[in-house]
Amino acid sequence: MPTTAYIGIGSNMDNPMQQVNTALQSLSTLKGSTLCQQSSMYSSDAVGPGQQNSYINAVAELNTELSAEALLKQLQAIEADHGRIRKQRWEPRPLDLDILLFGNQIISTPTLSVPHPEMHKRHFVLYPLAEIATELVLPDGCAISELLMQCPVGELLKVK
Ligand code: ATP
Ligand code: CA
Ligand code: CA
Repeated sequence: MPTTAYIGIGSNMDNPMQQVNTALQSLSTLKGSTLCQQSSMYSSDAVGPGQQNSYINAVAELNTELSAEALLKQLQAIEADHGRIRKQRWEPRPLDLDILLFGNQIISTPTLSVPHPEMHKRHFVLYPLAEIATELVLPDGCAISELLMQCPVGELLKVK
């Protein structure tokens, strides 16, 4: 049985909208996987060191036969294709792909934490996710609608 996974996509370098579009194309050709839905694109202010450009974010829904670890490896390969060089956390990057949810699984290993531990606090994750999964319930039983009520939309803008 394939698993429904939600992937958070973010870029704040080198034409972010194009980065997100080509990331979606790569996700649509991922082995053992089907791209089922994609959200609109949203812009948000960067969190991280120094002055950074705004982010473009989106969320994709994948149906995948891959394991969570194998999916992470594939996502990291797509990031690398987009010229990402890993240095420090939260630095500007052409592409960031995070596994937000992997079915109803709770995963806690040195390389993978699912659900993504910060997702419930991030407007740039929750609003695009809710757009494509209105009725979603997280593994802890919390509905996406409840999370949205606790997370102000702030300066987040739907751009496309
Ligand atoms: P944040 O996790 O706060 O969004 P980040 O995306 O900038 O920060 P990265 O530098 O992209 O962090 O990733 C650091 C490591 O996080 C990765 O090498 C990966 O092993 C690990 N990781 C843990 N959980 C996840 C997840 N759910 N999705 C993607 N990577 C994860
Ligand atoms: Ca991230
Ligand atoms: Ca990441």
